Amino acid sequence: MAIATINPATGETIETFTALSEAEIATKLELAQQAFEQYRRVPMQQKSQWMNAAAKILERDKEKFGKLMTLEMGKTVKSAIAEVEKCALVCRYYAERAAEFLADVSVGTDASHSFVRYQPLGIILAVMPWNFPFWQVFRFAAPALMAGNVGLLKHASNVPQCALAIEEIFEEAGFPTGVFQTLLVGSQQVAAIIADPRVKAATLTGSEPAGASLAAAAGKQIKKTVLELGGSDPFIVMPSADIEAAASTAVTARMLCNGQSCIAAKRFIVTEAIAEQFEKLLVAKFAALKVGDPMLPDTDVGPLATPSMLEDIDHQVQECVKVGAKVLIGGQPPAERAGNFYLPTIVSQIPVDAAIAQEEFFGPVALLFRVADLDAAIQLANATPFGLGASIWTQDATERDRAIAEIEAGSVFVNGMVKSDPRLPFGGIKHSGYGRELSIQGIHEFVNVKTVWIK
Ligand code: NAP
Repeated sequence: MAIATINPATGETIETFTALSEAEIATKLELAQQAFEQYRRVPMQQKSQWMNAAAKILERDKEKFGKLMTLEMGKTVKSAIAEVEKCALVCRYYAERAAEFLADVSVGTDASHSFVRYQPLGIILAVMPWNFPFWQVFRFAAPALMAGNVGLLKHASNVPQCALAIEEIFEEAGFPTGVFQTLLVGSQQVAAIIADPRVKAATLTGSEPAGASLAAAAGKQIKKTVLELGGSDPFIVMPSADIEAAASTAVTARMLCNGQSCIAAKRFIVTEAIAEQFEKLLVAKFAALKVGDPMLPDTDVGPLATPSMLEDIDHQVQECVKVGAKVLIGGQPPAERAGNFYLPTIVSQIPVDAAIAQEEFFGPVALLFRVADLDAAIQLANATPFGLGASIWTQDATERDRAIAEIEAGSVFVNGMVKSDPRLPFGGIKHSGYGRELSIQGIHEFVNVKTVWIK
C-alpha cells in the first residue's frame, strides 16, 4: 500500500511519501535506543510536565489536527476535533496518575522487605490503524512514555501526515529527541523492525490478519505483544428498555467514524415483542442522517476511508441479500457522489447460521436480528469469533446480571453504547485480541514487573 494522503471524499491524491530505507530505519532505531538510556532515568514529575504540555498543544491546535484527520481518512470534522480533545484527556490522565500506578507495591513475605517495582522495557513498536488516527496513538503513547519507555510508530499508510504531526507534538511538548518517532514504513517492513534486538515489545491495533502476522513475528523473537483487533459488537434491546433512547443511541453507536470503529455496535439483537417498534425508529433515524462532505459541520456520515473499504462493505451487503436477507434502507453508494460514500444501511432477516453473519461489517451498515428472549439474545451475541464489546438495554436487574455474566466480551455496557474512557480498561477476548489499553491495566502492559526481595 502506497504511503500517501488521498482524500476519501474526492479520490484526489494530495501527497505521497517514500518509505524509509533499511539504513534510515537503523538510524532511527539507534536514536531511540540512545534516547531510552537517558529517558529511563527522567523523574516522573518531568515526564508529567511534558505530557501535560502535549495535552495543551493538542487543545491549542485541535481544529488543525481535526481537519488533517478528516482530509486523510474522511471522518466528520466534528468527530475528529472531539477525538483530539480526548487525546488531551488521556495525556492529562496519565500525567496525573502514572506515579501512583507505577509506585512500588510492598508485599509481606519471609524477607525483611519485599516489593514489586515497575520498570520500563525500552523501545516499544506501535502499529496503528487509520480509523482513529490520533486517539489510537495517544492511548498507546501516553502510558508507554509515562512508564519510561520510548515509542516507535508505524502508522497506517493512508494517514502519514497525522503520523508526522503526532511526532511533532511530542517534540514540541519537550520530550527528548528520539523518545517518540514516526517511521514511514510499509507493513512488509514491520517484521524486520520487530526482529531488531533493541525493540522489546509491540502493540497492534487493526485487523485479524495483521495482528496474527505481528504476533507471529514477535513470537519468534520471544517478545510481548498487545493486540486490539476487530469486533462485531452486539447491541441487545429487551422489552423493558427505553426503546426511543436505545434507537437513538443505536444510530450513534453504529455510525461512529462513518461506521468504521472496532467498537461500533454492528449486530442489533432485538426481542420480538418490541422488534417492530425498534425497527421503525431505526429506519426513520437512518433516513434522517446527512451523508456528505465530512469537512462540513452538519454532516453526519462521511466517506469510507479507502475505495477497498467501500468495495468490501458493498460486497458484504450483497452477500447478505444472496442468503435471503432484506435491505430496509440504503444498500448502495449514493448515485450522485464521487469518493468512497455508502448510504446508511439496515439489513434484516439474515439467517443466523450464514457465514456472512459471522463477519465484521466495517461501514455504515446495521445488521438487525429478531430473537425470542434473552437466552437467544445471549447465544447470538456470543456466536461470532469476536469478543470486543457488548451493549444491552434493559431495566430488569436479572437480565442485566445475566448479560454481564454470560456475554463473551472485553466489556459490557448496560443502557449505554460501548465507548473507551481513559479510566476504564479497553480490549477484547477471542479474535478481538488480548491485553488491555487505558487505566492502570494499560500502563502495566509494557513494564518489567520486578520482584525485589531483601534480607
Ligand atoms: P489493518 O490492515 O490491519 O491495518 C492496521 C495497521 O496494521 C496498519 O498500520 C497497517 O499498515 C498494518 N498492517 C497491515 N498488515 C500488516 C502486517 N501483515 N504486518 C504488520 N503490520 C500490518 O487494519 P485496517 O483494515 O486498516 O483497520 C480495520 C481493522 O482494525 C478492523 O478490523 C477494526 O475492527 C480494527 N480496529 C480495532 C481496534 C481495537 O481497538 N480493537 C481499533 C481500531 C480498528 P498499512 O496501512 O501500511 O497496511
